[in-house]
Amino acid sequence: MTRGYTIEHLLIRYPDDDAVLEAIMQNTADTDGRMQCPTCQAPREFRRIHTRKCYQCTKCGHQHYPLAGTIMARTKLPLTKWLRAVHLFYTHRSGVSAQILQREIEVTYKVAWRMGHQIRSLMADPNPDPLRKIVEVDETYVGGRKRAGSKKPIPKKTAVFGTLERGGRVRTTAVQQVNKATLFTLIQENVELGTTIYSDEHSLYTKLPKAGYPHDSVLHKAHEWRRGNVTTNAMEGHWSRVKRTIRGAYVWVSPQWLQSYLDECSFLHNRRHCPALVVEDLLARMLRPLSSGVRKGPPGLRQTPSRSRAK
Ligand SMILES: [Zn+2]
Repeated sequence: MTRGYTIEHLLIRYPDDDAVLEAIMQNTADTDGRMQCPTCQAPREFRRIHTRKCYQCTKCGHQHYPLAGTIMARTKLPLTKWLRAVHLFYTHRSGVSAQILQREIEVTYKVAWRMGHQIRSLMADPNPDPLRKIVEVDETYVGGRKRAGSKKPIPKKTAVFGTLERGGRVRTTAVQQVNKATLFTLIQENVELGTTIYSDEHSLYTKLPKAGYPHDSVLHKAHEWRRGNVTTNAMEGHWSRVKRTIRGAYVWVSPQWLQSYLDECSFLHNRRHCPALVVEDLLARMLRPLSSGVRKGPPGLRQTPSRSRAK
């Protein structure tokens, strides 16, 4: 599997910290290779200061730290370790546990755990384009298993809602509650109006045509999994991959972090026809300051929208 995009490929492109910093500078520069200097308020050339991960405006001396605003902002590790970590998400497409990162990147467990989550935070779709054509929707429940050796009571399962474009992309969201308001908000956010939606017999979906989405369903209760073109088998298939990944690589995930793992599964699914994009897209996002800033804590669960929006 590693033949497609080897770590050597990556390390030839970015052999050391300087190359990584230079790539971030290029990503923030204009077409002439100059960057807006906040002090001069004009595009300027910046010169590397070699004793620090820093560049300096050649005109006014303003110092710019290219790692600021990226997930590597506070890192003390060689930046090539971050590249190796990103590459693991390509070679281990059934999940990259903190143990794998710890072993392969040679960092402590705590550092590995944090790195994993920071890389996963890049996998959320920044500006999702609506799903079209035929979309399958379904909800499932994840987690709720007793941790080995734990005396704590079995935690509640967390609801996850999914939309899958047939033959195309998937999006899944961990939700606080499965109700009409939440599901309709997510459908409106993720699915183009007028798209045909297939689901199971859950009564929540019967109001979809009224909201502008032609709808049909299969009766799972009566063991009906397919009627002509109507089925949710592709969505169900994705749920099994999600559960296999979580059980296989992560064993147990807390509801607060669940969205991260869901995003990882969707990110990989959406690049299944061209896996090299796993590395390319992650690098493209990692080597530029994030517009909305680096996520500090867990992504949490999607809250139920207020009543006014949920008509
Ligand atoms: Zn300047």
